[in-house]
Amino acid sequence: MLTLQDARKKIEQLREEIRRHDYLYYVLNQPEISDSEYDRLFRELLKLEEEFTELRTSDSPTQRVGVGPVEAFGVVQHTIPMLSLANAFDEGELNAFDERIRKRAEISKIDYVAELKIDGLAVSLIYENGILFRGATRGDGYRGEDITNNLKTVKRIPLRLHGDLKHLPSRLEVRGEVFMHWNDFERLNEEREKTGEPVFANPRNASAGSVRQLDSRITAQRNLDIFIYGCDSEVPGIKNHFEELQFLKKLGFHLNEHSKLFHGIDDAIKYCKAWHEERRNLSYEIDGIVVKVNDLALQRELGTISRSPRWAVAYKLPSTEVTTIVEDIQVSVGRTGAITPVAVLQPKLIDGSVVSRATLHNEDEIKRKDIRIGDTVLVHKAGAVIPEVISVIISKRSGKEKPFHMPQVCPRCGSKAVRAEGEAVWRCVSSACPAQLKEHVKHFVSRRALDIEGFGDALVDQMVEKGLVKDVSDLYNLKVEDLLPLERMGKTLAEKLAKRIKESKDRPLARLIYALGIRHVGEHLSEVLASKYRDMDKLSKAENEDLVGTPEIGPEIAQSIIEYFSVEKNLKIIEKLRREGLNFKEKEITRETPFAGKSFVITGILSAMSRLEAENRIKELGGRASSSVSKNTDFVVAGADPGSKYDKARELGVKILGEDEFFKMLGINRIG
Ligand code: NAD
Repeated sequence: MLTLQDARKKIEQLREEIRRHDYLYYVLNQPEISDSEYDRLFRELLKLEEEFTELRTSDSPTQRVGVGPVEAFGVVQHTIPMLSLANAFDEGELNAFDERIRKRAEISKIDYVAELKIDGLAVSLIYENGILFRGATRGDGYRGEDITNNLKTVKRIPLRLHGDLKHLPSRLEVRGEVFMHWNDFERLNEEREKTGEPVFANPRNASAGSVRQLDSRITAQRNLDIFIYGCDSEVPGIKNHFEELQFLKKLGFHLNEHSKLFHGIDDAIKYCKAWHEERRNLSYEIDGIVVKVNDLALQRELGTISRSPRWAVAYKLPSTEVTTIVEDIQVSVGRTGAITPVAVLQPKLIDGSVVSRATLHNEDEIKRKDIRIGDTVLVHKAGAVIPEVISVIISKRSGKEKPFHMPQVCPRCGSKAVRAEGEAVWRCVSSACPAQLKEHVKHFVSRRALDIEGFGDALVDQMVEKGLVKDVSDLYNLKVEDLLPLERMGKTLAEKLAKRIKESKDRPLARLIYALGIRHVGEHLSEVLASKYRDMDKLSKAENEDLVGTPEIGPEIAQSIIEYFSVEKNLKIIEKLRREGLNFKEKEITRETPFAGKSFVITGILSAMSRLEAENRIKELGGRASSSVSKNTDFVVAGADPGSKYDKARELGVKILGEDEFFKMLGINRIG
């Protein structure tokens, strides 16, 4: 039993630690610890505050929600606070929740709605007379950030509600969770890895990072989705939560199909447990099941306590954690020279797959967790996919464990490794490093770059090791006879490869820019650059001012482009690629296109491409893309939920094109 003095010390220490993690998680979207580790700290604090009630304070993290808004976004006051949820970690805690409610309500069996707890970012959406008026983050529950413009880019958020709006309150507030599907998350990280940007640890951080952008064009590229899970305005005639969900669906909101109504807690508990396994079949991450009282009048009667409503509880799905041994710590060298430490683990089965390696991210992470070779560690799959070392089990140390030191030289080529100021990553600085070259060739031939099918990793490794490819331009010198001596190579395959290499010379300029692997320049920015400069030579000579004046290119990206084109070796590669006949120019505009000289404005959401992409296509075909409608506008392209530009076009008699008509004009078949 702790003394009051010890408890005070421990409580203060826990509060400080939790506050730090709250800031890292809610504001920076860069948590340092896993959610289960955080939950453990939080519960420890809760338990101590329950035991030592005299030490409770109103500013304790147990009494508060999230972290206050970041001013840069514009701060909004929530009319109805956006609260957190109390947690239930097992069946017993769900039963205790039910018992509390039955006692208060004096009812023997309660109706509950069980919903998936999506692991994303809570947002509030306010509609005035059926039109989206404001979207905000939860912030500290009372004050959130105004992110209306960013949320308008989320296709699943209706800008205008559907159906008969006569019976709707003039101001309707709904709440939901913005999230990212696994495939979009993986794609985003892949892209970031290639452009040398830090990857997101899980889809939740990626969604939060995407929604809280000062430039909504970045949000627009991230393919976010949303599930609406509740309404905070009273709607005449709606008496329970389940009806409310059906009603929201009719208004055009995207609702999760797995919400279910149960009579009594027992079936709700069975449902919660079924998701321990079922969660793997979802295309997005959930971290629990929310169990809510169905009757809205009873919800109101039950009310809220400090940071959560009494009428709902979040059943947290267990994250499987296993103990294993760090057999070794190895390092890998990426395309940008980044040297990443990886733990080689004694293989263990976690959530259906054998885990034998876990990235340790960087030197600081190893130091912070004090991971040594030989240590027994706790491992889980962060965000249910990526193996992560949670912590070292210090009590299992024998004293024989070996601390790990990052190599001061590149483990592949022996050149000097450096860690730049302000960066956590060590890099090999040699431009002749074979490990970097292998990664670069793999990137160059990848599907989204020059798309040369048939180049598996093993083949690229051999080509580099045998000296056939000393830089990416050497691919175009390869002859069938050069390929034949390679392992697992037959004449047919060699001929096919040679043919595909040749075909890749005609890929669009944007693909070639992307394939060069300029730091920070991903697939999308490559398109932006190709459509602005239209020529590799012009791009290579672009000056800082001009680059920064390009939409979406900030000073850091501009600097990286200039640096790339100032390196002699890179210029030589580009020269060789030119000599080999690769396409260095954006396609010329055909004068006869229906776009030539015409002015276009896009409103609403297009289903098959982003607005930026559509604008780029218009420009490529000789048209102009503008953001406001005037009598000089030739066409307004109206996607789903068009905004006021649509009304203006009608008023001025400007020709309005539906999405299908527009795609037809572009000469493409509509996707989906
Ligand atoms: P919470 O995420 O546990 O629960 C409340 C939130 O659930 C709501 O705001 C809403 O966004 C979301 N939600 C999803 N689906 C819902 C549905 N169908 N109905 C209602 N709400 C739904 O609470 P919180 O306060 O946002 O976060 C606390 C949790 O965040 C912790 O338990 C921990 O897991 C994590 N966290 C982690 C760290 C870290 O450093 N790793 C730091 C802070 C918080």
